[in-house]
Amino acid sequence: MIVDDLFDLVSYRIHPEAHIVVDAEGCKDCAHRACTFSCPARCYTWSEERARVEFAYEACLECGTCLLVCDRKAVDWHYPPGGYGVRFRLT
Ligand code: SF4
Ligand code: SF4
Repeated sequence: MIVDDLFDLVSYRIHPEAHIVVDAEGCKDCAHRACTFSCPARCYTWSEERARVEFAYEACLECGTCLLVCDRKAVDWHYPPGGYGVRFRLT
């Protein structure tokens, strides 16, 4: 299974407040921007126009990868409140 196929097996109940907050100041001068290529949901993107990492939480799969790869403590990570977030339908 490739990652894109996973989105056929998930649904979301999106909370109005983001469960992950990215500190843009902490991202300044980050040389590797590992979040932008390791997030399976592509929640992190590099904006050439704004010269900054942009983040959108809505498609988050709650895998925790971004928290692990960020070595600058720029990611404030929590699960969404109960009943919100991603739901996996694997059967
Ligand atoms: S890896 Fe961390 S510090 Fe680097 S761009 Fe991503 S969130 Fe920012
Ligand atoms: S927890 Fe996983 S899916 Fe969610 S933003 Fe981080 S890397 Fe992407």
